[in-house]
Amino acid sequence: MSDVRERIQYLRKILEQYNLEYYRDNKPSVPDSEYDRLMNELKALEESHPELDDPNSVTHRVGGAISEGFTKIVHERNMLSLGNVYNYEEIKQFDQRIVNEVGPVEYVVEMKIDGLAMRMLFQGGRFIQAVTRGDGVVGEDVSMNVRTIRSIPMNVDFEGELDIRGEVYMPRDQFRHLNAQREANGEEPFANPRNAAAGSIRQLDSSIAASRGLEAFWYHLPNAQSYVSTHEEALELLEGLGFRVNPQRRLCHDADEIWQFIQEIAAQRDSLPYDIDGMVIKVNDLAKQQVLGFTAKYPKWATAYKFPAEEVVTEVKDIFCTVGRTGRVTPNARFRPVEIAQTMVEYATLHNCDYIINKDIRVSDSVVVHKAGDIIPEVVRVIPERRKADSVPYVFPDTCPVCGMPLHRFEGEADYYCLNSECPARVVESIAHYASRDAMNIEGLGEKKVEMLHQAGLLNRIEDIYNLKYYPEEVMSLEKMGRKSFDNLVEAIEASKENGLDKVLFGLGIKHIGAKAARVLAENFPNIDQLMEATMEQISAIPDFGDVMADSVVQFFADQQNIEFINALKKAGVSLLYKARANFASIFTGKTVVLTGGLDSMTRSQAEETLTQLQAKVTGSVSRSTDIVIFGHDAGSKYDKALKLGIQLMDEDSFTSELERLGILKK
Ligand code: NAD
Repeated sequence: MSDVRERIQYLRKILEQYNLEYYRDNKPSVPDSEYDRLMNELKALEESHPELDDPNSVTHRVGGAISEGFTKIVHERNMLSLGNVYNYEEIKQFDQRIVNEVGPVEYVVEMKIDGLAMRMLFQGGRFIQAVTRGDGVVGEDVSMNVRTIRSIPMNVDFEGELDIRGEVYMPRDQFRHLNAQREANGEEPFANPRNAAAGSIRQLDSSIAASRGLEAFWYHLPNAQSYVSTHEEALELLEGLGFRVNPQRRLCHDADEIWQFIQEIAAQRDSLPYDIDGMVIKVNDLAKQQVLGFTAKYPKWATAYKFPAEEVVTEVKDIFCTVGRTGRVTPNARFRPVEIAQTMVEYATLHNCDYIINKDIRVSDSVVVHKAGDIIPEVVRVIPERRKADSVPYVFPDTCPVCGMPLHRFEGEADYYCLNSECPARVVESIAHYASRDAMNIEGLGEKKVEMLHQAGLLNRIEDIYNLKYYPEEVMSLEKMGRKSFDNLVEAIEASKENGLDKVLFGLGIKHIGAKAARVLAENFPNIDQLMEATMEQISAIPDFGDVMADSVVQFFADQQNIEFINALKKAGVSLLYKARANFASIFTGKTVVLTGGLDSMTRSQAEETLTQLQAKVTGSVSRSTDIVIFGHDAGSKYDKALKLGIQLMDEDSFTSELERLGILKK
């Protein structure tokens, strides 16, 4: 019990501190997901230990803080926060609760603008006052600053008193512009548009607020039932009076319709001109709202759906180095597993030694992690306040973690290399690369299998792959390697011999030569003997081939060991001729194509390669010169941009049907 008491005390204290950083200083030290996680933990503890609950706990208060310098105003009606839901199930439960109390209802689902709540008072049609939410009971009079927001009418056609609520925010463009300016002036940039908006509205000098390009949406009329009977009508009334009301809203009738709208907005989120952190679901019927009422902190007739966190806090459990086929040593972090944007994350690359030093990442540190470009997990920063007292800086190894040879750092490079070409890690990685899907595509010869065969002394260099068939007993004695696996492996190896020069070239792992460059090389020199004799000038004359790539190819074939290796491949019967595939016209011929989202039927690189073989130009971003955008699941901003520009969109089914029609994919 004393553990629980201590934990509750700790959580209350730390959440109070986070509230001050967030609401008073506009400078949060942890992402919202971390605040929400700790807050939910505290709520759960207080619920399961009611004897430890305290009316003063942060769980019972609306978060804000009030700063000096502004007149304090007691709100006529408390300005509350919103309850939260995080997934479809919780939306269903929210709906069920409402239906149980007041029967089936209609909801208005709106954007949850990530700004700060504001109340405005008009009398006889004239603007009187604007007040921040503050702690929900007392706010600050920021009328001078709100007056500078040009879209807010100062006179409206309304008799009597009008009390409205909305969100003041900073548009994304404005935020980028402001931060660029601040950085140029040597000032600290704001963490996000919300903090920037809050910082701007609480400027004592209103000319500063005026220069910040703030905007506002209005979404609530507290005594609406005096004029209308639904929330939607109240919004229309506000709109009619000239207030900016967000047009992106929808009337929904159940959890499925709400979820559908949330998905649609989530797909557009990145391309909106302002930040949203979720969607707000409100009962439309004002009479039913009244029946449902309020808790001390939230209305019971509304809730906020929060988007999955994109930044989370976790702990670094370990930092370890791996060695790639070129000998490059890459440090990696292992975390306490956490969910980011709906997937579990446990590892992230730390790139190189300088990256670790610059961010000062240490084992046992608490770190903020996000997914760069929504795909690759990345450490954003360390939270130094949470660093343990006995923590020590990470020391980069000076010897190879696999073979123990000293590491080498080339002049001007950030990476360390293991230069031992016999280093087991390098050997295994280079063989696994040769057998990998985009190279020789030998099924059954993944990294684990290569490692086992290497340890058994059966695979020491790439060409040994072709001798495995002579060692059935030895191969079959390995774990999970029966007769059938052996036969299949040998069959896959034999079949791969006909893959052609481009695949072999990529598999060789020549520095700077990726899958695409390997194909272009093979197109220009369709026989390996031609390529081996090619000069630096001839290779660098290929469009898009720079001197660095050309030099790397020439160097590779100048090495006697590599010549012997090529001879061994020839002897093993590996085809070293280029066979152009799919040389026929299709709807993709000569077109510029962009791929976006995840594909189920093939990898991204397979799709790219197929398109390139069909003589399409595959590019990474959508512009007016794009002809076709092929989209898979979870397609994001590229899809939206294509829609906006009226570019032809093709879903995965249509894409694969077209490939089937061309005979490239089997039905
Ligand atoms: P909230 O942001 O979860 O939701 C309530 C607010 O939503 C309202 O007050 C209003 O300002 C806003 N809103 C936007 N669009 C709206 C719409 N269409 N209709 C109604 N309201 C709308 O609650 P909160 O109390 O403002 O803030 C709590 C949240 O702030 C936490 O969940 C956390 O994510 C964040 N926070 C973070 C830290 C930190 O240290 N990182 C600290 C404190 C709070």
